[in-house]
Amino acid sequence: MTVIPAINPATGETFAESPATAPEAVAVAVGTARQAQGPWAHRPLDERRRVIARFQDLLFTRRDEAARLVSRENGKPVVEAMLTDVAVSLDITRYYLRHARRILRPRRLTHSNIAVLGKRGRLHWDPMGVIAIIAPWNYPLLLPLGEAVPALLAGNAVVFKPSEFTVRTGLFIQDLLRQAGLEPDLFQVMVGGGEVGQALVAAGPDKIFFTGSARTGRQVAKAAAEQIIPVNLELGGSDPCIVLADANLERAASGAIWSRFTNGGQTCVAAKRLIVERKVYQRFLEILLRKLSGLTVGPGNQPGVDMGPMIRDSQVRELERQLAATVARGARIRVGGRRRPDLGPTFFEPTVVTDLPLDAPLWREEVFGPVLPVVAADDEDEAIRLANDSAYGLSASIWTGDRARGEAMARRIESGSVLINDATCHVGIVEVPHGGEKESGLGRTHGEIGMLETCKPRYVGTDLLDWFRKPWWFGYHEESAGDREAIMQFLYSPSLWARIRAIPRALRLLVNRRPV
Ligand code: NAD
Repeated sequence: MTVIPAINPATGETFAESPATAPEAVAVAVGTARQAQGPWAHRPLDERRRVIARFQDLLFTRRDEAARLVSRENGKPVVEAMLTDVAVSLDITRYYLRHARRILRPRRLTHSNIAVLGKRGRLHWDPMGVIAIIAPWNYPLLLPLGEAVPALLAGNAVVFKPSEFTVRTGLFIQDLLRQAGLEPDLFQVMVGGGEVGQALVAAGPDKIFFTGSARTGRQVAKAAAEQIIPVNLELGGSDPCIVLADANLERAASGAIWSRFTNGGQTCVAAKRLIVERKVYQRFLEILLRKLSGLTVGPGNQPGVDMGPMIRDSQVRELERQLAATVARGARIRVGGRRRPDLGPTFFEPTVVTDLPLDAPLWREEVFGPVLPVVAADDEDEAIRLANDSAYGLSASIWTGDRARGEAMARRIESGSVLINDATCHVGIVEVPHGGEKESGLGRTHGEIGMLETCKPRYVGTDLLDWFRKPWWFGYHEESAGDREAIMQFLYSPSLWARIRAIPRALRLLVNRRPV
């Protein structure tokens, strides 16, 4: 039997093993999920809410265990796991418990065309069916729960494939949901790597929520397209962080450092390209380097540690390749730039790089580790041009003393979100729809839009006036060209007088005749 090891990145030690799911078993799981989903969707929303409320209580009660597990599997400091993964997951659950009824309520649809005035229309939000969630390792609790909680409340079943690096956190979520009373078939964890993810897509779920790299996202989207399965893609990012000369530089430096180096520099929405207005470039760089020297790197379970290790050696090697190739093009490492084998196998120093050419890997590619490239921009326009010069469009931040100026600039940035005088934190604000454009993906999670992405809109229209002739029904031969023209004039003529003149003939056509 194949097993997937749970490895603590701080030490490289295996602390648990989980049996892998055979790819053939994935289709069976999707089948049993589909059978369980129908009755679940037909249960009153309050019953589904009760299960999720119990889950919320259990997660709160076992929050320390959850934070320690996330830290142990992923490497981030326990306090960070508590503040990001656990706290935001609790917030997400509370938000959807409070707002599910309002969001899922059928909506009245008004019909503006007079030819269909006798209709009553409603838009219902029906669950998609079986939702496949394929997730990465960097926020192993928060990312899947941000999709699974609204999906389950809306009446879907979920088949979830966590990253092979954070399987234990995935199984922890499953345990909690089962303890909360959720029928096992409604939330099933598939254990394994890319081959299990592929099997999940091939099993034909009704919707796929994929979070991960743009490279894998493309493969998932292609496989889904073959089966016409809708996909939500939350992919990579290379967020610009613009610091204008009028900004509070001390605050901007603190914000940029946290955004870039939180989670060991392995956050999708992070200040990955720092663009500083030239007038304050030198001064800002000094503040940045000074503040960075205060950062404590170490194992995430030790108090006072700010930044843990990277997840695996392969990720460190990729970071080293990007850094070396950029330095070979003339870039300067201002601080950091090396591994810290004295701390553990995958620790890397927080690193700042300047003087880099803009076609170097550190600027062009997504950098998923603690390295921050910094460039200068002459003015606002150049800063925006540099910000948009990326294949990605996930998020962005602008630091300025003039909020109106920041908000005006935000409208010119190509990304799913822009924060003024802050960065990254909107992923933890549950009302905010999270997602990107360009190669950062498709669709949104979180908030009202995120819940509706787990549903399919169904229009139900009822005809109320059965004496009203449908002008489009058969009986064409009885109409003269003049009658049809009257209808067209009545509905669409820009001249009010022409519309009034057409009324008698148009009405005759609508009420007088019997259709074929
Ligand atoms: P990844 O693409 O390597 O893997 C993501 C998931 O896909 C894993 O569970 C993996 O096992 C699975 N997978 C791999 N090959 C597959 C295939 N062919 N078919 C189906 N599933 C497959 O990404 P990662 O290294 O785990 O995560 C890091 C990436 O995720 C970064 O690019 C980061 O920016 C991105 N990310 C994006 C967001 C967002 O919200 N936009 C959030 C977190 C991370």
